[in-house]
Amino acid sequence: MEGSRPVVSARTALCGIVLHPAGHTRSPAMHNAAFAALGIDAVYAAFDVPPAALGDAIAGARALGIRQLAVSIPHKQAVMQLVDEVDPTARRIGAVNTLTLRDGRLVGSNTDWTGAVRALERETALDGRLVAVLGAGGAARAVVHGLLGAGAKVVVLNRTPERAAALASELGADRGGALSDLAATPADLVVNTTSVGLGSQESPVPAEALRPGMVVMDAVYEPERTRLLRDAEARGARTIPGKWMLVYQAAEQLRLWTGREAPVEVMARAFDAAGSRAGRPDQAS
Ligand code: NAP
Repeated sequence: MEGSRPVVSARTALCGIVLHPAGHTRSPAMHNAAFAALGIDAVYAAFDVPPAALGDAIAGARALGIRQLAVSIPHKQAVMQLVDEVDPTARRIGAVNTLTLRDGRLVGSNTDWTGAVRALERETALDGRLVAVLGAGGAARAVVHGLLGAGAKVVVLNRTPERAAALASELGADRGGALSDLAATPADLVVNTTSVGLGSQESPVPAEALRPGMVVMDAVYEPERTRLLRDAEARGARTIPGKWMLVYQAAEQLRLWTGREAPVEVMARAFDAAGSRAGRPDQAS
C-alpha cells in the first residue's frame, strides 16, 4: 500500500480474498494500494479458509456485508454452489473467482479471462492470431474463453490430451492435443496455464518448440521469470510474466465493484513490493 495505512471507520467497506493456504498472497497489497490511489474507503484482507469451512465463510461474508471477495485455489468451483447468482460468463467457464455484493445478493463472476486478454494485449493484437493454450484446467478454460472472444484461433494442448479435446470442443476452440504437438503447431502465441514451473525450474514444453517472433505468456507468476519465459527469451520470443494476468484480473474485480478503472501500474508496483517483503511468495492469487 504505497505509503500510509488507511483510516478505518464505521463507514469503511471490507473486502478480501478466500483461499487455502493463504501463504503470502499479494492480493491485499494490490487492492489496498488501488483503494489508496483512488481514495476508496475500503480495506482488503486475506482469509485462510479450508474447504470444509467455505460454506460458513460465504454465509459469514453475506451476513457481514463484505462488499467483494476474491476466490482463489481451491475454491473456484465449490463456491459456485454457495452464491446467490453466477453470471453467464463464469457459468460457461465453470469457475468463479470474484463475489460482489449487489443489493444484498452475492454475485459470482470470473475475471481471470479478462486478466489474460488484457495482459496479452500489452504486447500484441489477438484477432486472427493462432494461440496454443497449454493446460486444460480452470485457468485454461478462462483463457480459452477470453481468447475466442477476442477473435483468436485456439488450440488446447495438455498432458492429458483427452481433457484438452473435451475443453476445445465444449468452448469452441479449433482442436485439442498433447503438449508435444506444440512443435508442429504454427502458433503466434503460447499461453501456459499448466501449473508446471510454479516454484520450480521446469517448463511444460521443450525450448525447441518455441520460435522467434512468438509471444509467450505464463500464468504462473512465481518465480516471475519462469523457465518457460527464460527459454522463450533465449529463442527470440517476446514474453509476458503471469504477474500481468494477475494484476489485470484484480483490476477487473475493482471495476466490477466500483465501476472505476483501476490503477494497474500502482497495483503492479504493490505486487512487486509485497514479493520483496515476503521473500518467497506463493502462487495463490
Ligand atoms: P488446475 O485446474 O489444477 O489445472 C492444472 C493443469 O496443469 C492441468 O492442465 C494439468 O494437466 C496440468 N499439469 C499439472 N501438473 C502437470 C505436469 N507435471 N506436467 C504437465 N501438466 C501438468 O489448475 P488451474 O486453476 O488451471 O491453475 C493452473 C495454474 O495457473 C496455477 O499455477 C495457477 O496458480 C495459475 N493461475 C494464474 C492466474 C494469474 O492471474 N496469473 C490465474 C489463475 C491461475 P492434466 O489435465 O494432465 O492433469
